[in-house]
Amino acid sequence: MSAFALATPPTPSVAIAGSSERFPVRRIFCVGRNYAAHARELGNDERDPPFFFTKPADAVVDSGQTIPYPALTKNLHHEIELVAAIGKGGFRIPVAEALDHVWGYGVGIDLTRRDLQDEAKKAARPWDWAKAFDLSAPCGPLVPSAQSGHPQKGRIWLSVNGAVKQEGDLEELIWPIADIVAICSEAMELAPGDLIFTGTPAGVGPLVAGDRISGGVDGIGSIELAIGQPR
Ligand code: MN
Repeated sequence: MSAFALATPPTPSVAIAGSSERFPVRRIFCVGRNYAAHARELGNDERDPPFFFTKPADAVVDSGQTIPYPALTKNLHHEIELVAAIGKGGFRIPVAEALDHVWGYGVGIDLTRRDLQDEAKKAARPWDWAKAFDLSAPCGPLVPSAQSGHPQKGRIWLSVNGAVKQEGDLEELIWPIADIVAICSEAMELAPGDLIFTGTPAGVGPLVAGDRISGGVDGIGSIELAIGQPR
């Protein structure tokens, strides 16, 4: 085996509830919009098929951390999301088998530089600078699906400084988890360690330095995050 010219980077990972083991993260896929009310609030047709974007694996942040307010933005937004963690890979996974590929679930926040996203949309440019920046994918502890089951309903919510800002129910998902896994696997061969952020309910909004964020999905878990001063 060849030696590497530099020290190998650490493996990004997220916590596992009730375990000292961690879930190694390979890639992060995110669904663009997946709740009817949120699609409407951004002016989109809720019948559109799902589309995906990605974040780097090392954008994950554990629950309980403080992250600096990101560079380049004046409109950082929160998007609370159910996260599906892939344990078994596959290409063109049938919907009927898709949930067998999900190792577990967690609660994530798809942090978004909304002003950069709006500019990108107008200019038909990529979303990476809006979505795939450092520390943009906080994710709380995963619960194994063997323990939680595969959620089809349940409250999903986010509060900022104690005030509820986002609230929805997993039963409002336009494309349920099995469909999302199956459709994603038509474009990419999914692999163990992949995370899929499954979209956010209505109520997205701005964050500022000093904000304390809490969020959760009933039956799955929760996440806490604080926004610090910019670097
Ligand atoms: Mn999102």
